[in-house]
Amino acid sequence: MNLEDHAGDILRKARSSGPLTPEAAAALAGLTTAEYAALEDTGKAVRPPNFAVIASALGLSAPKLEKIYAGWLPAPVDLGQWRELRQITTSRGGNTVHCYLAWDEGTRDAAVFDTGFEAEPIIKLIAENELQLRHLFITHTHHDHIEAMEPLRQRFPQMRIHTDAKAAPPQHKNRRNDCVHVGSLRVSNRETTGHAEDGVTYLIGNWPEDAPHVAIVGDCLFAGSMGGARQLLDHAKQKVREQVFSLPPDTLICPGHGPLTTVVQEKAHNPFFQ
Ligand SMILES: [Zn+2]
Repeated sequence: MNLEDHAGDILRKARSSGPLTPEAAAALAGLTTAEYAALEDTGKAVRPPNFAVIASALGLSAPKLEKIYAGWLPAPVDLGQWRELRQITTSRGGNTVHCYLAWDEGTRDAAVFDTGFEAEPIIKLIAENELQLRHLFITHTHHDHIEAMEPLRQRFPQMRIHTDAKAAPPQHKNRRNDCVHVGSLRVSNRETTGHAEDGVTYLIGNWPEDAPHVAIVGDCLFAGSMGGARQLLDHAKQKVREQVFSLPPDTLICPGHGPLTTVVQEKAHNPFFQ
């Protein structure tokens, strides 16, 4: 799986959070305005950009950005060590999004994290594995993450909904110290706003055989990047540092877009963090 963001996407996200114009950014990168525009669009440049200068002007790590430019990918993850955890990927109009299904092998209690664009693949997995869908946890209410909520609710009317959305009825709202049991699995939540005002990360722990914690992060963090946050980028980065990078190094990060990664790999490779 490709990264969600190439080096040009990262530059654009960092640049659009501050006052730097494309012309000024081009000059710092040692490129013409047209060459720099192509770099933001494609992640490639006709000659090597001056990453040291442009990255430091944008608050990015130059060596990490250069590695992304050169094709870094996180190590592939075998989800078989978590029982049970599945990634479900759906697409619409060129936008691809992941949601996640976790369950207790013994009790067959299950929880889904976001819905993606279609309910059908989720319903199919639940039927195939003879699960009881007890909970829907929403990382944020951007439409690609909740598009299939209504059909899922109709199919599983007993399912409890968990969200930080301000407009949600009180019984659906996360409280910061909630610990939700899904069979023997334990789900807690952490505020990770910035990309979205209702952004929340769910931490799934107590896996069989001591498998590492799993963080369902929505779009607050991607492998090698993060969801766009415009003027709130500094706030978004601070939330990731406090709420995600404080987790154990081997914590599996399950983002809404792009490949799976881990806390240790993001600390080492994510250019948004020095
Ligand atoms: Zn989003």
